[in-house]
Amino acid sequence: MNKKKKSYIVSVVTAFLAIAGLMAVEFMKPGEEPAYIPYGEFLNMAESGGVAEVSLSNGARIGFTGPGGTAYETDNPRKAELKEDLLLLGVSVTEESSAAAEPLLSTVVSLVCFGAAILFAARLMHRQSGGAVMAMDVKDAAPERKERVGFDDVAGNEEAKDSVSDIVDFIKNPEKSTRYGARMPRGVIFYGPPGTGKTLMAKAIAGEAGAAFYAVSGSDFVQMYVGIGASRVRALFKKAREAGGAVIFIDEIDALAKKRAASPSGGSDERDQTLNALLTEMSGFEPNDGVVVIAATNRLDTLDEALLRPGRFDRSVEIGLPDLNGRERILRLHCKNKPMSDSVDIGRLARQTVYFSGAMLENLLNEAAITAARKGAESISHQDVDEAYYSIIAGKAKKDRSGIMERERRTTAWHEAGHALAAKLMCPENTVAKITIIPSTKGAGGFCLNIPPDKLYFTKNELEAQVVVSLAGRAAEEINSGAENVTTGAANDLAQASALARDIVSKYGMSEAGLAPIAEADINREHAGILERLYNEARGLLRANEAALKRVANALLLKETLNEAELEGMIREENR
Ligand code: ADP
Ligand code: ZN
Repeated sequence: MNKKKKSYIVSVVTAFLAIAGLMAVEFMKPGEEPAYIPYGEFLNMAESGGVAEVSLSNGARIGFTGPGGTAYETDNPRKAELKEDLLLLGVSVTEESSAAAEPLLSTVVSLVCFGAAILFAARLMHRQSGGAVMAMDVKDAAPERKERVGFDDVAGNEEAKDSVSDIVDFIKNPEKSTRYGARMPRGVIFYGPPGTGKTLMAKAIAGEAGAAFYAVSGSDFVQMYVGIGASRVRALFKKAREAGGAVIFIDEIDALAKKRAASPSGGSDERDQTLNALLTEMSGFEPNDGVVVIAATNRLDTLDEALLRPGRFDRSVEIGLPDLNGRERILRLHCKNKPMSDSVDIGRLARQTVYFSGAMLENLLNEAAITAARKGAESISHQDVDEAYYSIIAGKAKKDRSGIMERERRTTAWHEAGHALAAKLMCPENTVAKITIIPSTKGAGGFCLNIPPDKLYFTKNELEAQVVVSLAGRAAEEINSGAENVTTGAANDLAQASALARDIVSKYGMSEAGLAPIAEADINREHAGILERLYNEARGLLRANEAALKRVANALLLKETLNEAELEGMIREENR
C-alpha cells in the first residue's frame, strides 16, 4: 500500500470513529433536552450569580442549573481551571462520575470511539510530522477571559506602570505610532523577584488595551519533543495576530534563553529551536499587528544577550519588591473585597512586612480570611491577621532571622545615607534620583541612584569627588557601627572607587607622579595613596555632617525609599 493511500484510509476511519462517538453520545442521552446556552452567555450568568450548580463531565456539553433549578447545558470548554473559577464565583460544582449507572454505556462507547480516533490521529500525525495537526497543542494558550484586569489592580508599581503605559496605546492604536515613525518595542522583559506582579502587570496591559492575553511558560517547552515547541510558538503567534491586538506573556523566559555559559549541560536542541522560532516570529511582526510579547524572568543578567538586541526584547522594566508605601497600597487593594474589622491596622502591617512581595501580602490576607471564616467570625480580626503573619514569617525565615534582618536594614540605611549625603555635598551637579533600602534584583542590599551630569570632560576635583561618594557607603557604616563591624556590602563600591582611582593615576595623569609614564610599582603606590586620602575625606565629611547623616538613615529605616526633594529638605534643615 502506498503512503498516500494508507493515510487516506486512516483519515476515513478516524472520521468514522469520531462521528460514531459523537452519535453514541447524542443517541444514548436520556429523556428531555435541557435548553442550550452559548458558553459566553453561561460565563456571564455565572458571574452575575445566575448559575446555581454545574455538573462537569467529559462530554461535549456540560449541564448546569439556574437558581430556580431549571436545567440548561452549554459547551464543555474542557478547561482545567473552569472548576476553580466556578468555585471562586460561589457556584457549586459536581463531577459526573463514570460510575453513574445510566450514562455508563454511552460513556464507555464514546470513550472507546474517541480513544481510537485519537490513536489514529496520533499515528497519522506522527507520519506526517508536519505542522497542521499541531494546532491541537495550543489549546492551553486559549485567551483568558474572566474579569478584565486593569492598572487599578496593580498597586504600588507606579514607576513600572509609567514605563509601560505607551504600550497600551500602541496595542490599541498601532497605526498612530507608526504614522509618527515611532518604532514600538516588539518585546518587553519584566524582571524582578517572584510574586512581585509581573504576570499581573502583563495582564493589566492587555486589559487596559482591550486585547487578548495569551500566557505560556518557558519551562513548558523544555521537555518537549524536538519540533513541537517551535510549532507551538508559531501557532501561538498566528492566533495572536488573528486576534487583532494581543499580549503574549512568556513566564520564565530564562528556561528558553539562558546564557550559554550559565548552562553547563550545553544548549538543548529543543530549547534552541523554540527560541529561534520565537525570535523569527517576533521579527516577522508587522508594525500594525498590535502584538506585544512580554517575557518575565527573576534575573536579567542570566539571559542570553541575543534576546536583548534591538527589534527583540529591547525594553526591560524592573518590577521590584514593594517599599513601605507600595506594601500599604497592595494591602489596601486586597482588603477591598474582605470584611476587615476596625482593629486591623494596615499601616502597621505594612511596616511589619519588609521584604514581602505582593503575592505574599495577598497570601497573608487570604490566610487571615480563611482563619476568620473557619471561626465563623463576622469580620477578619487583628488576631487573624497576626496569626497569618507569624505563620508566613515562620515559613519564610528561621526564628531569629527577624533580629538579623533588622540589623541588616540598619546597616543598609546608614550605608545608603552615606552615599546620598556625600553625593549632595560633594557633587552638587549630580542628581540623586532615588535612595532605597529595598534590595534590588541587581544584588545590592539597597541603592542610591546617583546620576552624574552628562558632560564631555570631568575635572580632577570632580573625579575625586566621585571616588569620595563611592567610598562614603563604607565610611558611614564605620561611623554607625565601628571599624570592626563594617560589612561586605561595600564590595562593588570599592571596586568602582579603586578602578577610578587607578585611572586618575595611569590614564589621566592626574596624580603626583604627573604625566610621565610610570612603573607598575609606582602606579600601585599612588593608587593606594589616593584611595586612603579620599576614604579619610569621606569619613571626615560624614563626621562633620553626622546629624544629617543620622537623620537620612533614620528616615530610610522608616520610609525605606526617599526621593531627591525629601533628601534635600533634610540636609537643609540640619544645616540651618
Ligand atoms: P510574578 O508574575 O511576578 O511572579 P504575579 O503577577 O503572579 O507575580 O503575582 C501573584 C499575585 O500576587 C497576583 O495575582 C496578585 O494577587 C498579587 N500581587 C503581586 N503584586 C501585586 C501588586 N503590585 N499589586 C497587587 N497585587 C499584587
Ligand atoms: Zn554602596
